[in-house]
Amino acid sequence: MTIYKILKYPHSLLRKKSTDVTVFDAGLQLFSENLCETMYVFDGIGLAAPQVGILKRVIVVDVRKYFKEPDIWKKTVEYSLDGVKMDCPDVLTLVNPVIKVAKDTIIFPLDGCLSFPGVPRAKTERSAYIEIEAYDTQKRLIHVNGYGIMSICLQHEMDHLEGVLFIDRVQEEAFLDEELLGYIKDHEDESEERKKIKKYKPQDARRLVSIS
Ligand SMILES: [Zn+2]
Repeated sequence: MTIYKILKYPHSLLRKKSTDVTVFDAGLQLFSENLCETMYVFDGIGLAAPQVGILKRVIVVDVRKYFKEPDIWKKTVEYSLDGVKMDCPDVLTLVNPVIKVAKDTIIFPLDGCLSFPGVPRAKTERSAYIEIEAYDTQKRLIHVNGYGIMSICLQHEMDHLEGVLFIDRVQEEAFLDEELLGYIKDHEDESEERKKIKKYKPQDARRLVSIS
């Protein structure tokens, strides 16, 4: 497993538009696994290929850690593979995702990004409901209906594919009440996660990856 370096704002590649994946092969599978592992190491709930310097339309999302209770996240998503409804996998890997429906505008108070380390979370305008069509790494058709945090996270990651960043959607810096601050601190104080980050020497994906 390879951990990739995450590009930090204002790296110019973060502003570029990504292109469709056209070859679904072992290289794509390996890249998406590494992207996922990179997301976990850096403690994120989503990551997009351009954030590691690869301008291809691939995102990974895993919102489980957003919730303190296990399995509640499952209420945030409906998933079907080749037209058959089934349980959503813990991690969603979406290739060439397209938004079909986005509605119910809300202000999300805690948007943040792994490409902006140390930057406070902020209020962004997002849709509370989204429908997406995409492919998995084996080119099987996926439909995802996302609610709440799942919808927001999917929009955040898909924005990266267009070179759009969360700072472009900021309404105002979040007012963080005590409860929210405590919640964030809980999550930031995961010393095991920090140890994990130190253990890895992230690699430059642009030198390692050749997906077309
Ligand atoms: Zn981001």
